[in-house]
Amino acid sequence: MKKKQVITGILAASLLVSVPLTPALAGPVKWVNVNVNEEQDGSLFNSENYDFIKYSEIGKKLEEINKQSNRIKIEITGTSSQGYPLYAVTIADPKSQGKFGKIQALRKQMFKNPEKAQDWIAKNPDFKVPIMINGSIHGTEFVGTDAVMQLIERFATQNDAETKEILENNILIFNVVQNPDGRVDATRFNGEGIDLNRDFITQSQPETQQTVELLTEWNPMVFLDTHGYVKNYGPNLQGLIEPCTPPHNPNYEYDLYEDWAMGQAQAMEAEIMADKASFEGNLYQSMEGAYIPLRDDAAGWDDYPPIFTPMYAMYHGAYGHTLEAPTNDEDGVRWMYNAIMGSLKYATENKEAMITDQIEMFKRGINFEHPNHEEGHFPNAYILPVDEKDPTVTEKAVNHLLKNDIEVVQASKAFTAGGQSYPKGTYLVQMNQAKAGLANTMLWDGEDISNDTPAMYDISAWSLPELWGFEANPVHEPVNVVASKVNNITGQGAVSGKGPFLIPNSSVKAIELVNTLLDQGVTVKRDSNGDFYTEAAANKISAAVKTSGLQIGTAKVPADAEAVDSLNVAILKDGGMGKVQSHSGTKLALKRLGFKVTEVTPVEVATTGLTGFDVFVYSGTESLIATNLSAANKEFGFENSGQYATFKANVDAFLSNGGKYIAVGAGASRATKTLGLTDNTINTAGSNSNGIVKVAYEGDSLTAGYDQDDLGFVYRPVWYTGLANDEVSATIADSNDFFVAGHWRNNGNAQGQAVIVKEQDKDVTLIGLEAGFRDHTDYLFRLLSNAIFTK
Ligand SMILES: [Zn+2]
Repeated sequence: MKKKQVITGILAASLLVSVPLTPALAGPVKWVNVNVNEEQDGSLFNSENYDFIKYSEIGKKLEEINKQSNRIKIEITGTSSQGYPLYAVTIADPKSQGKFGKIQALRKQMFKNPEKAQDWIAKNPDFKVPIMINGSIHGTEFVGTDAVMQLIERFATQNDAETKEILENNILIFNVVQNPDGRVDATRFNGEGIDLNRDFITQSQPETQQTVELLTEWNPMVFLDTHGYVKNYGPNLQGLIEPCTPPHNPNYEYDLYEDWAMGQAQAMEAEIMADKASFEGNLYQSMEGAYIPLRDDAAGWDDYPPIFTPMYAMYHGAYGHTLEAPTNDEDGVRWMYNAIMGSLKYATENKEAMITDQIEMFKRGINFEHPNHEEGHFPNAYILPVDEKDPTVTEKAVNHLLKNDIEVVQASKAFTAGGQSYPKGTYLVQMNQAKAGLANTMLWDGEDISNDTPAMYDISAWSLPELWGFEANPVHEPVNVVASKVNNITGQGAVSGKGPFLIPNSSVKAIELVNTLLDQGVTVKRDSNGDFYTEAAANKISAAVKTSGLQIGTAKVPADAEAVDSLNVAILKDGGMGKVQSHSGTKLALKRLGFKVTEVTPVEVATTGLTGFDVFVYSGTESLIATNLSAANKEFGFENSGQYATFKANVDAFLSNGGKYIAVGAGASRATKTLGLTDNTINTAGSNSNGIVKVAYEGDSLTAGYDQDDLGFVYRPVWYTGLANDEVSATIADSNDFFVAGHWRNNGNAQGQAVIVKEQDKDVTLIGLEAGFRDHTDYLFRLLSNAIFTK
């Protein structure tokens, strides 16, 4: 996102830099359309027909409040995937403006000299603590933003003793509508179909990137994420307030979090209960409290993966809580408002001790002292060597670490570490740094937690080196090397030699380059190793190569290389079955690979067929072709059962006319079987089983660029048996330790079994691995391009 400096008001003194909100609200895009498209009160995602505050009202309402207050600063800190403004509102006591410098100084001290910061706090009890509240990251969980708007109005305009005391002690930062697309469309996900509350380790979406920026600018002491709807999890316990059940991720300093988080949760619950008489719904009449997973349960609501917003915020030192209101109505708003007030009061009462422990987390990082971790859990450093020909993956990783407030340095000389020598230019993440926990959770390999808990809520392994495909070598000894601090890297590609030129099948950027050249009419050939060649002149390809970041050299074109075409790809669209767009990860992967991708709904395939497309990708739930859908899912499937037959006939016709069919994942594999396009047996594991697996790739055209001894990612694992003469291109490794990290119980049946196969007599490819999972498995994206380019 592009930003301009703000010079006036409270935030001038903060580290936030962003676009000021103009009083007329003239600028932002799509404003007129908002009123046409939004307010889907009839949406099945808002079956209560609760009259929430509409997105189009938010800006006007904020501006009204702004006119009555000298405590509020409104900014647009980014835009959603569909172009709607993201509002950040900061509220602070105007008298404190002159003291903001102290807050800044403290923030810097937290990282540079935590002991001094702790001393400073002890001597300056009037310091202000940043507290951040995130409004409705799930679009249909409307009550969060409604409660946020009421709180903004209160803290901007009211003068009661409670309001004043909270403002004397805190700076309140409201991310007002974290998911405008979802609020407008009445969907859980954003306009790209991505669940933003699963996107915090990869940060693929503009909304998540904006929130990460707010978090890294403020390092809030408390972070509250507003959701719905959880009721009756325990008898007469209404709503849910974290902290979570185990397993807790071992990269936290959980001991520093746990007691304060529990105290704060109980304070939120007490605030709700004190107001019990004001709730109107029947549900609330017998309410005895809220469900606090860590207090009320042993398993089932874990905080293990840092894909969730509060769990991610915890790595920036926040006491993070997900708050799930019980109902989608005014009572739900009241519940949320009260919960947040309970937290603000608790944080005000305990701020000195709480912030001392927040700083303690950073101190442990900087001093490389982790008293509650096993020796060696944190390596002294990670070393990230760079591939000279294709540095793009490592560069993406380094930029990602930097955006997440993790320090990266670059060696100015060659050096040796862990018995290995590395050249000048190698990147290093020294682990004696404030946010060592976040660095480790991004760079470690993960662990097999199948036996630690019966089931996990979501993904259980996410190692960026393994799933993005870059090297990050942990070293368990001090690494002393002359190095300089790295800021943002903007790698540029270059062409050398006279050609013909070799484009290696080595990364997403490499495939994107191939597609860019094909779009420009450049002839590109692909050999049996899956690498690409062009005989075009250097000046014809140099601009695209420069953008790609690759270093392209000269090589002879192998005799077996064949020209590839620019292909039109259709992907079957999931409009939101079970409140998820199950195809959206693969769609994003295909776009990032540079393919022209068109979403086609099941009804469109049934009624108009696949004419004009070269490739049809099915990556999503088998329910997309079901004929017995629930009422909530009906609008995303067939309109009548007759459409299944025409869908099938149109797919068959597409295949017999030379079209290519690719199925990705368990749901699509099962659907492919239903459609009669494979006679293999489709075996699937539990729907929440997931993780990183060892995979033996054959290195044929479908798996070019991958090794016999390599990795893959599964979610609801699927494998194929009864293959007859089908070509097998990849199998789960045939060893009993094939499961590297994640949660997958009783996985022995999958050992050594096929996970990528091609039908012998049809152009049907089954990919059992999650080749395009939530923009998360970059390293596996090329399985999609391999399948598309294989003739
Ligand atoms: Zn939610």
